[in-house]
Amino acid sequence: MPLTVHQFACLSDNYGFLIRDDATGKTACIDTPDAAAILAELKRLGWGLDLILNTHWHPDHAGGNAEIQAATGCRIVGPKEVTRIAPLDREVSGGDIVELGETRLEVIESGGHTLGHIAFHDPVSGKAFVGDTLFALGCGRLFEGTAEQMWASLSRLAALPDDTAVYCAHEYTASNARFALSVDASPELKARSEAIFAARERGEWTVPTTIGLEKATNPFLRAGSAQAFAAVRTAKDNFKG
Ligand code: ZN
Ligand code: FE
Repeated sequence: MPLTVHQFACLSDNYGFLIRDDATGKTACIDTPDAAAILAELKRLGWGLDLILNTHWHPDHAGGNAEIQAATGCRIVGPKEVTRIAPLDREVSGGDIVELGETRLEVIESGGHTLGHIAFHDPVSGKAFVGDTLFALGCGRLFEGTAEQMWASLSRLAALPDDTAVYCAHEYTASNARFALSVDASPELKARSEAIFAARERGEWTVPTTIGLEKATNPFLRAGSAQAFAAVRTAKDNFKG
């Protein structure tokens, strides 16, 4: 059965995602960047909340857990590292399944940005919620993990079907495009970047992206090896665009 995604902007550049299993109406929130904004969206839609699904422990991803749980009575599912800032009702790791009504979300280990980062994938609707691991034309900074770990994580995501919709946690695409153009002269990247700059001028979102589009144009996915990936990541960390 389909999974409906309701996306909205939060904080300065985060996205909030409410996902609803159409068969049962069971609803989950991917991360909790802004409790007040998420609770307001739920109220506006007339939706209850069954689950919070955390990708990693950073405050712009798990900081709203307590307030949202207090308001809705939902359960909280995430990687163990979230307990650094808030309790979990269930700890999950790579290979686990999280049920949301009839939807079975696969947990994909995606450490690197943080050590315990995870992603959630619904193979039936072809949707992946990747937190701060993979961005449109970018990837998360290596705050805790190694380049090898992040390369393995990105490779797991790249192995998903090309038409998988990728829901990144931030709108970083225009600045990612400026960096990508500095390291890659491919016509596909140039065309995509022009479309991105125009879309952002119009105030449009560039998320979700797809695995196929990222494999074709994202300089981090195109690196080809952990070593080459590490060099691109370092260049981006030092890039002043
Ligand atoms: Zn983060
Ligand atoms: Fe973040």
